[in-house]
Amino acid sequence: MSRPHAVLIPYPAQGHVTPLLHLAKVLHSKGFYVTFVNSEYNHRRLLRSRGADSLAGLDDFRFETIPDGLPPCENDDVTQDIPALCTSFATHGAALLRDLLARLDDGIRPPVSCLIPDGVMSFTLEVAEETGIPALVFWTTSACGFMGYLHFAELIDRGYVPLKDESYLSNGYLDTVLDWVPGMPGIRLRDIPSFIRTTDRDDVMLNFDSGEAQNAHRAQGVILNTFDAVEQDVVDALRRIFPRVYTVGPLPSFAVAAERARPELGAIGGNLWKEDASCLGWLDAWQPHSVVYVNFGSITVMSHAHLIEFAWGLARCGRPFLWVIRPDLVVGETAVLPEEFVDETKERGIFLSWCPQEEVLRHPVTGLFLTHSGWNSTQESICAGVPMICWPFFAEQMTNCRYVCAIWGIGLEIDTDVRREEVSRLVLEAMDGDKAKDTRAKAAMWKEKAVAATEEGGTSSVGIGRLVEFLLGGTD
Ligand code: UDP
Repeated sequence: MSRPHAVLIPYPAQGHVTPLLHLAKVLHSKGFYVTFVNSEYNHRRLLRSRGADSLAGLDDFRFETIPDGLPPCENDDVTQDIPALCTSFATHGAALLRDLLARLDDGIRPPVSCLIPDGVMSFTLEVAEETGIPALVFWTTSACGFMGYLHFAELIDRGYVPLKDESYLSNGYLDTVLDWVPGMPGIRLRDIPSFIRTTDRDDVMLNFDSGEAQNAHRAQGVILNTFDAVEQDVVDALRRIFPRVYTVGPLPSFAVAAERARPELGAIGGNLWKEDASCLGWLDAWQPHSVVYVNFGSITVMSHAHLIEFAWGLARCGRPFLWVIRPDLVVGETAVLPEEFVDETKERGIFLSWCPQEEVLRHPVTGLFLTHSGWNSTQESICAGVPMICWPFFAEQMTNCRYVCAIWGIGLEIDTDVRREEVSRLVLEAMDGDKAKDTRAKAAMWKEKAVAATEEGGTSSVGIGRLVEFLLGGTD
């Protein structure tokens, strides 16, 4: 019998490439031949940020590329237009995948035995159905975020969405409690992924995500980068909806174990920006739990006015901080901080454009994470036991923020229209306030549960075992 061959196809954005690459390493460590499919654009960026070695792969861990169909952009070190990418792949993706599968059928590589597309690359399912190759979708969101997307269609059917007019964004309507979403008691409309906040029934992202989530029913299983304990009710509810749900998170821990077993895997990396690791030495100088780490991920953008409010808020709070500012963080312009602010905080502030986030979060001096609540960042913070201040930007970040603040008790939410007074007040409240000790204790508890999930016999270890078993053609 030939070796099992898994083809993994991430949506081409940082928060998707990273978890799929982790899963690819895990499957490789379980004996799979792996083909990892990048967009040409991202592949070029990876080559630049990590060097050719990181993509040379191994003989049995290969990279392939497909075009994304977008016109070339002037600055090719930026996150691409999300709706345009979604539309492009939904339109051209199936043809690209057919070509790719034909290329892979060269008699040298083992025949493709399974497809693992990103949940939002569901064009792959059409090809899976044509070829008979089993496909399992990997939703890189939280389980609660996925449940939200899964209910877009019902929200439309029940008349909640689209909104009647713009006033519904601010008249209290978003506080409506949806007591019928399974596994998510008390969830409000404002906690549902942000693409429902539209007055347009034809809104691209509303329809795209709704369709992609429904397409999960066509796959043979759903893989989630979460662990049962942290989202138990939602995971249980999803298991009542789908016949096969594999919870395999937090994946970084499993990927590290795979790299330990095969050190060559360690050279393969997925960071689209060049990491600046010099900040780790800077962190060494501070007291435990004293530094505020500020990072809004790979997609979030803000106005210049908001950047200034965050800056002066950090200045006011008097805490040391490490702030990652992507060059394209500010809408339409290069992010520039006021000189007086940089001067005033130079003894205790450091700025960079991309850092090794997991290491920063795990550094003992990191005491708080001011985040946009992307799922990878949220889960990495949970794994490091670091409380959060959440400034969700879009998509299921709204849902993650709700879980961090109201369900897990490890964070505080900051107003969308952020003000400097609020930034400094919340930082001090989270680090020194009455509830700070309790919040830190809860963060430590969730960290322990995350570790337990990845230990032998833990829910995610079992999840990976069941997934591999199924992919090998056995039962699960
Ligand atoms: N990341 C990183 N360094 C940075 C910023 C982000 O390594 O300076 C990584 C982070 O660890 C996470 C991913 O990029 O794994 C961001 O994913 P997330 O889901 O949090 O947010 P997105 O970028 O998709 O909005």
